[in-house]
Amino acid sequence: MALMKNTLIALFAMALCLPLSAQDKPKPDAAKSNLEWQKEEMCQFVFFAVLEGLYRDGVQNEIVDAIIGDKIEKKENKVKTHFVFRCKLCHATYEAFRTYRNRPAFMQTKGASTFGKGADLALLKQLGSKDARTRIYSMGALVRPWIMHRIKETRKTPEEKTAMKKRFEKYAQEGADLLRTHKRAKDGFYLDWKFYGSCQACEAAKDLGKAGF
Ligand SMILES: [Zn+2]
Repeated sequence: MALMKNTLIALFAMALCLPLSAQDKPKPDAAKSNLEWQKEEMCQFVFFAVLEGLYRDGVQNEIVDAIIGDKIEKKENKVKTHFVFRCKLCHATYEAFRTYRNRPAFMQTKGASTFGKGADLALLKQLGSKDARTRIYSMGALVRPWIMHRIKETRKTPEEKTAMKKRFEKYAQEGADLLRTHKRAKDGFYLDWKFYGSCQACEAAKDLGKAGF
């Protein structure tokens, strides 16, 4: 009986250790499992903020293509030019860019499909930079004000703002952990992401503090 109990304890301990030892190795199946971002309120908030910003500014397709990794062949690598792979807020941002890119033209408007005058095309050079910091921060300069815009527009109460900031910080922490794992797995896309912070959608959490939150 004691032996059986010990065996059970040993098995239980092994089961506990397994996830730890498996963490360092890239899991081939992890990339294929579903990423459930779309049901989460904060992800939807970011999605709409970005989609709205893209329409309001009338961002050109060239810029969108540079951000969604249009020229990258491998599907799962597309997201990695500007975002942290499998980070939920990053993914919500990425999907907003994709959705906007697939927008239909408005009827009877001679092909118009968006509202604003467009962004400065000089951005293209920065978005395509080999330097990760330049590339990611130029995307962030677009996205972060859009998130702040939606926060103002939706007139959150001070309590809601505090709750929101906390939730943003939780995503940012998850994003930072994922980034660390990607780097450890020697993912070529992330080896040079050495700069402060993680991803730009998550970094928006830090803007909240600056904007009177
Ligand atoms: Zn992220």
